[in-house]
Amino acid sequence: MAERVLAAVRTAPRTTELREFAMPEIPEDGALMRVDVAGICGTDVKMYAKPVITEPVIMGHENVGTIVQAGPQFVERQGLREGDRVFVEHYVACYRCEWCRIGEYRHCELTDWRTNPDARRYGYTTCENPYHLWGGFAQYMYLPWNAVLHTVPAAVSDDEAGIITPLSNGIEWALYDCGVGFMSSVLIQGPGQQGLSQVVACKQAGASLVVVTGTARDHARLELAKELGADHVIDVDEEDALSRVLELTSGRGVDVVLDCTAGAGTTPVLLGIDALKRRAGVLLVQGELAAFPDFPIKKLTEKAITIKSARGHSYRAVELAIEQLASKRFPLHLLTTHEYGLADTDTAIRAVGGEIDEGVVHVSLLPWKG
Ligand SMILES: [Zn+2]
Ligand SMILES: [Zn+2]
Repeated sequence: MAERVLAAVRTAPRTTELREFAMPEIPEDGALMRVDVAGICGTDVKMYAKPVITEPVIMGHENVGTIVQAGPQFVERQGLREGDRVFVEHYVACYRCEWCRIGEYRHCELTDWRTNPDARRYGYTTCENPYHLWGGFAQYMYLPWNAVLHTVPAAVSDDEAGIITPLSNGIEWALYDCGVGFMSSVLIQGPGQQGLSQVVACKQAGASLVVVTGTARDHARLELAKELGADHVIDVDEEDALSRVLELTSGRGVDVVLDCTAGAGTTPVLLGIDALKRRAGVLLVQGELAAFPDFPIKKLTEKAITIKSARGHSYRAVELAIEQLASKRFPLHLLTTHEYGLADTDTAIRAVGGEIDEGVVHVSLLPWKG
């Protein structure tokens, strides 16, 4: 195995440097993974422009790879060994706190970079910490005893494996958070990789009406939404989205609204509140805004709307996402439109941010691509 590991390191806002690290010494309870594919998402675009962690970081928090070295305790604890292909959740939790004990390790303090400067989370933790390799934009990643791993079957290609995270989020938010199921009607705002993954989750769950909104520049994405099973798509630059949704639901409004827009301000939330049915609809929000002036709380309480926060995924959602991909029921491979090598990490992140071309849906980074 190589003595050195090549990694793309974020050293400042919108700045990436290729750096070499010494291959870490793997402890008895740790492992080393060769990174096969690292997905890039909207969060990466935000973190790249305005890093919350200012020390150097190897980004990449949606990672799939092959275990190439594993200590005996790691093998015993994880039930995984060299040669196994795995999806790595970005959470690295403590397994002692209450959240961990009930299986909700995504809420664990040990992996929360917002409150804990020493948190471990792939793609967020600085490479100045021991073992250095805490992100997927690198040839190898370090796996400690408490990494959360899922086996990826051979039926799932690297392309498909790159979208395990958005699909897991789709299942978590649509099914578990918002209760989408048999004959549900759903409005999905934003046809990016996250919105498109919600389409698949909702259709698989039994939704009878899936409507997806986008803007004039989303033409190709809206077509893809239809291919994945959306019943109707709306270009909000051309049509009044609210009247269209009301028309499609015979004036009733939808059961669930999922906001998968990026940087769209207050508009999606306001549309969501208006497009929901008269009583007890559910609105899932991303909450990018620090404040929401003139929030129509009266409308919200009168309609008895429940607001849910988009907050990652659970273990079960990831397992179901992998099963869904392996089933080939939906042409999910169509989501991956762009692939880049390690040297083009900067371009890859900018592509997700819409700076390169308009046809981008999902971008994968392949660290071993020449
Ligand atoms: Zn992500
Ligand atoms: Zn914990």
